[in-house]
Amino acid sequence: MTGQDLCREAEARLSAAGVISARADAQILFLHAIGRISGSVPPRHALRDHLAAPASDAVAACYADMISARAGRQPVSQIIGFRSFWKHDFRVTRDTLDPRPETELLVELALSVPFGSVLDLGTGTGAILISVLAERPQAFGVGADLSSAALDVARGNAQMIGVRPELVVSNWYDAVTGRFDLILSNPPYIALGEMPDLSPEVRDWEPWLALTDHGDGLSAYRAICAGVQDHLNPGGWLMVEIGFTQGAAVAALLDAAGLVDVAIRQDLGGRDRVVLGRRPGVQGA
Ligand code: GLN
Repeated sequence: MTGQDLCREAEARLSAAGVISARADAQILFLHAIGRISGSVPPRHALRDHLAAPASDAVAACYADMISARAGRQPVSQIIGFRSFWKHDFRVTRDTLDPRPETELLVELALSVPFGSVLDLGTGTGAILISVLAERPQAFGVGADLSSAALDVARGNAQMIGVRPELVVSNWYDAVTGRFDLILSNPPYIALGEMPDLSPEVRDWEPWLALTDHGDGLSAYRAICAGVQDHLNPGGWLMVEIGFTQGAAVAALLDAAGLVDVAIRQDLGGRDRVVLGRRPGVQGA
């Protein structure tokens, strides 16, 4: 069988399983199956040649496993083991939320303010924290997460990318000491009642710990806001990702926590995605 035969068959199987991006996923996974067997993933421009050539039995068997996983609606990133975010590839597992493109807005906003120290609450893969530290090599960073399995992934990503955050198992601020110039978080913000509506890729494969507070979707923001007086330096910024309907509610929480210059920012899709606010006072004073 040629690569083309395998990919056609895989595409049909993925379509039948309800995967919307069946052809693209079939092709990406084919390149990764070749990579798993040969030791290096061919670049996309080599796809045409690989489709025309006969596929080895080893590649075909590896590809069949990957396609079965994808037909079971496992996300591509978990099957290939990483996801690109901002400027790097991050390792992802079933213990971590996949870094999503809309979260890059949080990184962009973080890099628009001065800071010497940064805290990332619910760091997961570490994608947010590691991305900002890679761009601010002088800054000190702490990543907190309730999941030690997620922190293992973050530790590996930090090492691979060459930054050295402190990573602590912590329920929000519980195990965090000190104050920071910048606090970031992409917390679980999906209300429990909304979980059934998510795609199977998210609902059945990503960690619920990272997705939902098992409540109204706002309890993480309440916990984060409750700690800003103790953990945010005067003049420092709090920036949180939100679900696109949560702007007003989260902005009100930041206001009530005494933050100023509270604003809502939109992602590239034009949807509300980040709420930010500053602690009054002058940084470093
Ligand atoms: N943006 C994610 C989603 O909609 C949710 C991530 C989160 O709750 N922080 O699947």
